Amino acid sequence: MQTIRGFRDILPEHIRLWQKVEKEASGLFKAFGFQEIRVPILEKTQLFSRSIGEVTDIVEKEMYTFADRKGDKLTLRPEATASIVRSYIQHKMYATDPVRKFFTIGPMFRRERPQKGRYRQFYQIDAEVFGIESALIDTQLIFLLNELFKRLGLTGLSAHINSLGCPECRPSFQKALLDFVTSKKESLCKNCLRRMEKNPLRILDCKVQACKEAVQDAPATLDHLCDDCETHFKTVKTSLKAQGVDFIVDKSLVRGLDYYTRTAWEIQTTTLGAQSAVAGGGRYDGLVKELGGPQTPGIGFAIGFDRLVEVMEQIEKTPEKEGLDLFIISLGEPAMEKGYLWSCELNQAGIRTEIDFRGKSLKALMKRANKLNAKYVLIAGENELADNSVILRDMNTKDQVSLSIETLVPELIKKLKLTK
Ligand code: ATP
Ligand code: MG
Repeated sequence: MQTIRGFRDILPEHIRLWQKVEKEASGLFKAFGFQEIRVPILEKTQLFSRSIGEVTDIVEKEMYTFADRKGDKLTLRPEATASIVRSYIQHKMYATDPVRKFFTIGPMFRRERPQKGRYRQFYQIDAEVFGIESALIDTQLIFLLNELFKRLGLTGLSAHINSLGCPECRPSFQKALLDFVTSKKESLCKNCLRRMEKNPLRILDCKVQACKEAVQDAPATLDHLCDDCETHFKTVKTSLKAQGVDFIVDKSLVRGLDYYTRTAWEIQTTTLGAQSAVAGGGRYDGLVKELGGPQTPGIGFAIGFDRLVEVMEQIEKTPEKEGLDLFIISLGEPAMEKGYLWSCELNQAGIRTEIDFRGKSLKALMKRANKLNAKYVLIAGENELADNSVILRDMNTKDQVSLSIETLVPELIKKLKLTK
């Protein structure tokens, strides 16, 4: 049996970086006032089609959707924002305190063509903020991302930002865009011709080379912003500058989800080839209302966890080897029973201890101790037990000392805690 295409195991030898990122991210989120939230992996299909948009790549071709036994249409979540917005509304959070900051870490599902940095089950670190209209929160989220990546030792990243406007500036932009794409009709792919009718903005995000070329000089949302959106975007830019966060204004950045308004951004890396975006985010001031809640501004981002780890693995070529504090070699049944009890007590005290239960020879077990990268080895054989003592071997210096069984565990705890 094999995993399904685009799905993969993350094996123990790769977990260390995942845990490092999780630790750093949750620490940072806490400091910035975010609370963790966990939402289901399965939701009603409608939640995603209504929020992400019917005419988007995600909804049209990437969702894992199926009917459950009663015929309800369900979807494996392709992203987390919609679910968190649903939760915000469902639990009437707006009524007790409309200002909420959440983060969540977990798997997302999109049926895309699998390749490096692109999987069908992938993980995101997701943050969402509700109830804050100020542009300073836009800046703060980009600053937070920057800080996280800095702490993880990443370099060569750039923040691409754009403003997508609001319902007030959209009509003038949409008209200009429609005129433009109509004039390019001959060069567009079949999909884009369909998008032209239903959702022309999506043409700007088409991956077909001919379409990309055709829309190179397309009108940009930035040139159609209303005064409020203009001011908002200006504040984002000046406050980012004031904080020393580098960014590039990218007029062509539209993002693949329909719910975005005003600020949208992507953090790109030069080290992952075609899969260059490690994080993406944006404002969605209309989404809470669209899904049935009161008018509430919202903004958030998602980090591509798999891609982030891939970038980190490139930087950190030789990861430090994890090892054991102590490996217990018990020779013979009575020694095994004692060794087992010692090992449990040491485990309880937080000392990484292992014992081999298979009754192998001293030579074989010394080999295993080396393989497990043990700092110390405890040898308990029949002779030693008769003497009420055991041997402790320092695997680095090869020094051996004899320890009395009576005080063994406390003494080991003292000694091994010191070497940590
Ligand atoms: P892309 O343009 O690379 O398809 P996207 O705009 O579809 O990305 P978002 O929906 O913004 O992606 O998700 C945020 C982040 O999640 C992306 O920047 C990327 O790092 C990661 N991501 C998205 N899709 C995948 C995937 N299929 N496999 C791995 N990571 C992904
Ligand atoms: Mg995508």
